[in-house]
Amino acid sequence: MIYNTAMADIAQFDYYIGIDIGGTRTRVGRFSKDCKLEEKEVIETIRYKKSPEFLLEEIAKKILGLKKPNSEFAIGISAPGPCDTKLGIVKNPPNLPGWGEVRVSEFFKNKFDTYVSLENDANAAAFAEYKIGSGKGYKNMVYFTLSTGIGGGIIINGKIYRGFMDSAGEFGHQIVLPNGPKCRCGSKGCLEAVSSGYAISRDAISKALVRKSGILYEIYKKNGTINASDVFLASSQGDDISWKILNKAITYMGIGISNVITVLSPECVVLGGGLTNQDYIIEEIRNFAATHVKMAPINKIKIVKSSLGDDSSLYGSVLNTVDSF
Ligand SMILES: [Zn+2]
Repeated sequence: MIYNTAMADIAQFDYYIGIDIGGTRTRVGRFSKDCKLEEKEVIETIRYKKSPEFLLEEIAKKILGLKKPNSEFAIGISAPGPCDTKLGIVKNPPNLPGWGEVRVSEFFKNKFDTYVSLENDANAAAFAEYKIGSGKGYKNMVYFTLSTGIGGGIIINGKIYRGFMDSAGEFGHQIVLPNGPKCRCGSKGCLEAVSSGYAISRDAISKALVRKSGILYEIYKKNGTINASDVFLASSQGDDISWKILNKAITYMGIGISNVITVLSPECVVLGGGLTNQDYIIEEIRNFAATHVKMAPINKIKIVKSSLGDDSSLYGSVLNTVDSF
């Protein structure tokens, strides 16, 4: 059984299998030897929420469908943090409730008897953007995912910076508002608790229920909830409350991203995640950083949209595996 790179040789693999375990969707893809995505399967994670083993077994079934006969493959996994990347363990991820500690690498090693590596999904996405995406060529870059939650990854000198016990790059959990709203991490006033899709949705629901009138309240009555995308739509239709909710969220995004730029002075900042589908958010963040960042060379720092989109962590899972040799 092959357990680590010391016992394996990259030349022995004919292709790769990438797995991106996500809170909503899990993607499994077959990649060529030169890391081109050839075929992909998507699993609705929620359907297998009963226990982690259900999802892992389903992923294994997809791998059997993607496998090529008589050839060898290595497996790269990306999963929500926190992760122990050395031991291949996912540790109580807030995005996968009820998971506890799961030895994902061991599961696939036992199933397929091959080399398996694990990376935190935001780090994997950062690495993919650096290798083949919008951050290509920038050896010092950071990646933000602005979505239901807010995550991040740091590339220093072309390598993922993991920090002590794999916990670096948690940009969503920097404190931007003392005594602000409670965060899933247990703290208060984290960037994720004031600027994420979740925070936008929470604020819209609470405003709608207080006012009991207006576009947001109508959406709530119809759907029983209000998504961040509903708030963007209502704002574009002239709803003042929606505009205020978004303005607050985007201002704090600007603060969080400007702080990271000031601390790390990266050559490039790549922004991914569903909220960046609103192009003006990227423009607002650029303007905020241009005005507020003074100590880093902000005029020379690129702030760009992710080019790999939803597949960034899937690509990263494989690119990270290749890089680990
Ligand atoms: Zn937090």
